[in-house]
Amino acid sequence: MRVAVYPGTFDPVTNGHIHITERSCTLFDKVIIAVAAENYKCNLFSVEERIFMVRESIQHLGNIEVESFTGLLADFASKKKADAIIRGLRAISDFEYEMQMAAINKHLNKDLETVFLMAEGQYSFLSSSIIKQVALIGGCVQGLVPSIVDEYIGKKYQERLRRTKEVHYGERG
Ligand code: ADP
Repeated sequence: MRVAVYPGTFDPVTNGHIHITERSCTLFDKVIIAVAAENYKCNLFSVEERIFMVRESIQHLGNIEVESFTGLLADFASKKKADAIIRGLRAISDFEYEMQMAAINKHLNKDLETVFLMAEGQYSFLSSSIIKQVALIGGCVQGLVPSIVDEYIGKKYQERLRRTKEVHYGERG
């Protein structure tokens, strides 16, 4: 039984993440999507929201689990008896950081391989950050993210809009 862990922040999950997940599911018997609970990046969504959106988006896949993790990824992977970590590579800019992470994870757990999957054309410029930038100023991200994410990020946009109006109203009043 070959097990892989696909870790990330998934803030929020995009169709690029889903494509990497689908491809990983054909390579491994089981894939565990590990959603980072720690909030180093000032995430837009809570870990519960991020996990919910990932779960809703991968219902068509059978050999997959979604969990949160804290602490060292190498420890989480050992606990799950994983053979590999999956990472996606979009552009050369991803490479240096990913190489460092692969090396340190190998140092921490010598049995753990990192497997890189190259992003395919339409996904290679897609990131959670660009989705947030566009959606939170009212742009359409349909087709770039699963429909549940489109719905959730739309709600965040409406919330922001409401808060901004309250501030302006308060200033005027
Ligand atoms: P992290 O904070 O760990 O980088 P992300 O959620 O941003 O978390 O990304 C998780 C993984 O998914 C990373 O390996 C990243 O390179 C990969 N990834 C993100 N977006 C895409 C995409 N559009 N195509 C392929 N891989 C992607």
